[in-house]
Amino acid sequence: MRRPPDQIIRPEILALSAYHVPPATGMVKLDAMENPYSLPAGVRDEIARLAGDAPINRYPDPSAVSLKAALREALAVPDGMDIMLGNGSDEIIQIIALACARPGAVLMSVEPAFVMFRMIATFTGMTYAGVPLNPDFSLDVAGTLDAIARHQPAVIFIAYPNNPTGNLFDAAGISRIIDAAPGIVVVDEAYHAFAGASFMGELAQHPNLLLMRTLSKSGLAGLRLGLLAGRPEWLIQLEKLRLPYNVGIITQLVTEKVLQHGDVLLQQAAAIKIERAAMSENLATLDGIEVFPTDANFILFRVNQGNNAGSVFQELKNRAVLIKNLDGSHPLLTNCLRVTVGTPDENAQFLEALQASLKKPND
Ligand code: PMP
Repeated sequence: MRRPPDQIIRPEILALSAYHVPPATGMVKLDAMENPYSLPAGVRDEIARLAGDAPINRYPDPSAVSLKAALREALAVPDGMDIMLGNGSDEIIQIIALACARPGAVLMSVEPAFVMFRMIATFTGMTYAGVPLNPDFSLDVAGTLDAIARHQPAVIFIAYPNNPTGNLFDAAGISRIIDAAPGIVVVDEAYHAFAGASFMGELAQHPNLLLMRTLSKSGLAGLRLGLLAGRPEWLIQLEKLRLPYNVGIITQLVTEKVLQHGDVLLQQAAAIKIERAAMSENLATLDGIEVFPTDANFILFRVNQGNNAGSVFQELKNRAVLIKNLDGSHPLLTNCLRVTVGTPDENAQFLEALQASLKKPND
């Protein structure tokens, strides 16, 4: 007798809802932390030539030797550390979880955090434990140390800066967590380009620390490239789970080319940081908005004074501006929305649409 999907697929997968990516055609797209700027025409021409000449009938270099050397230099990966590449850092999270998923093993993170930490724990059969942040979104170090003692997590993911809150946690607190953890701690620096703080230099001090980066937020989201740096004793094991050709030839060639023009990405990140400051200031002047500090390329804010995040989100969408509604995703995020910093023009459109979407005091 043939059995239907609900008798074959694992129950925890049946219970999941798929990661939802809303359609954005024709919208001012400020929901996914992309860099809004394209590359200069000269660099785009070089990319076009490279892609045209690429031997796409052949599999890519499975070890991406040339790209890895370029990344090692561009990201200042310390000597003695290995690097592993992923099809985005999403894939690296999945590789780490697959490797650690002994029966009953725990994947820990703070909450609210990047939702893929919890989802991938489920994908891989790990037990997920989330430690709530303080109401101001700072790290509850004592609470996390206590949870570590109780759960003995195989792996802890900490995003630095955190998504969706945008803040950098206290570095000394993270160090205490790394030292107390019985297993791996992955510091996920997806938003490093906008933050100016890093644990890269700490790798040598902590034998259980792994450091993750992505090129998605600084301008190459479409290429899908993430990176993990850490001690060979860990990376040798993780490499066994990486599928041989996970990083395509176009991604390898184009990323390396863009890294040769690294100043362009740095200038774009600098422009985004300037816009971030302006946007935070502008948001703070609006009645009924509470803005949270950010070290990333997005801003978390809460609507109050009779406004509700769901209707503000919908009103913005009606005005062709797409951001992210976080209300309902965690108790600390009640009435919170997240907006990615776009171009000055996009940000102005967002602010204008937001003003029009907010209730006036005597509405
Ligand atoms: N880590 C964090 C904290 C993120 O916010 C994201 C993307 N939203 C990722 C990892 C994954 O990024 P990518 O797969 O594009 O590298």
